[in-house]
Amino acid sequence: MKWFINHKIIEDQDGYIVELYLDQQLSEFAKEFLETHKKDTGSFEKYVSDYIKEKIPNVKVKTVKIMLGSLLLTSIPFSSIHAETSSIANTNQVQNQTFAPYTVQSGDTLFGISRKFDTTVDQLKSINGLTSNLIYKGQLLKIPNMQPTIYIVQKEDTLFKISKQYNVSLEQLKAVNGLTGDALYIGQTLTIPNGDITVPVSVLPNVVLNVGARGEDVKKIQKALNDLGYSLSPDGIYGSRTKAAILDFQKQHAALTNDGVYGPKTKEYLQQTLLNNKDAIISNPRDVLVLVNKNNRLPSTYIPENVVVPNVSFSFKDYNPKKLMRQDGASALEEMFEQTKQENITLYAVSGYRSYDRQKAIFASNVEKYGMEIANQFSAKPGESEHQTGLAMDITSATANFKLTEYFGATKEGKWVKENAHKFGFIIRYEKGKEHITRYQYEPWHLRYIGKDAAKEITNQNITLEEYLGKK
Ligand SMILES: [Zn+2]
Repeated sequence: MKWFINHKIIEDQDGYIVELYLDQQLSEFAKEFLETHKKDTGSFEKYVSDYIKEKIPNVKVKTVKIMLGSLLLTSIPFSSIHAETSSIANTNQVQNQTFAPYTVQSGDTLFGISRKFDTTVDQLKSINGLTSNLIYKGQLLKIPNMQPTIYIVQKEDTLFKISKQYNVSLEQLKAVNGLTGDALYIGQTLTIPNGDITVPVSVLPNVVLNVGARGEDVKKIQKALNDLGYSLSPDGIYGSRTKAAILDFQKQHAALTNDGVYGPKTKEYLQQTLLNNKDAIISNPRDVLVLVNKNNRLPSTYIPENVVVPNVSFSFKDYNPKKLMRQDGASALEEMFEQTKQENITLYAVSGYRSYDRQKAIFASNVEKYGMEIANQFSAKPGESEHQTGLAMDITSATANFKLTEYFGATKEGKWVKENAHKFGFIIRYEKGKEHITRYQYEPWHLRYIGKDAAKEITNQNITLEEYLGKK
């Protein structure tokens, strides 16, 4: 695992200060990481020293600062590491280590991206730790980049869209290009700055701020608000415009008091929104055809109406909210289970509705057990699980030991489900061979209700819900 994604070298009186930037994906675990490593200072310092020896071998390092975005987590005197030759960290060396973030668009390939940014596929793979050429829409890639990127405005581009794509703030984009308004024209050449943007999600301060406040904390909040599409000048002064932006943000969240004051609760929501901001928040959660996946999240507040316990056999006895399904899905499931009885097939329902908070707890526990990368392959992040819609049900059989296992697909029951589920409006949502589209491993047990017409078409054409909706 690579902890540091970037570093900066700052010249000081008799040596250099090196700032090491933790991977922002680790932000929620960064504290834990530091606590663990503080107990075992020796190995932590060795890790840091190895990193420095490898990346900047010829620099006389005086102090090492561990950073998370603009937040200093810890500072370590590093006098122990003196390179033999104290040659200068020239600008080239520093720039060699900077990356510009790029968000993968639909239709992008690694090859295409490498051409666009004048790099190679191999380099992209090594920088981003990719083991194959597979990329997906919405994925954030690090692009080695020494020159500012030039972007030519396309039809339907907006400054906001471009700023999102390249992870720069609207305000930064405007400043670099000398724009005073938001207007763009097709064919316009924009310079995309590649400044200190490797850590796109800033860590917000834990303070209470109101009109009249000034300083760095105010500036951080203004920048965060700009990342969400507001256009404030980050001058560090909490004036009427900053208050209006906070108020507007608060109005979008029922749990927040609409007072225009930045406090702990507003901070929490703001931070969460920033983290979620890369993916689209679903606007039609009630739609029976709603697409929920790693790029399309349900709002954290979404709870389906009309949920019931379907009258089918479960693999366990007592009441549990996971027995719930939306009424339409529940009726269809009852119909399907009724049919199985005629055909000597016995299915058991295992897990249906799951709340956002429950999914959050499950994902956190999986990350703890398996690490972020692996957990992400089989476990959904909160908001990214179909179970939150109430339209999904995991099923199993006695022959699969009542477990949710790939083996279920090979049992008599699993085969029956594959053949017949669509007749009742269900699809096997994560099919074998479609992992590159669904971005989940094969799950023969996970049924999703989408209605009979769509289910029939998807099954007959052997496509995914993503493909089906893309065609519509
Ligand atoms: Zn499931």
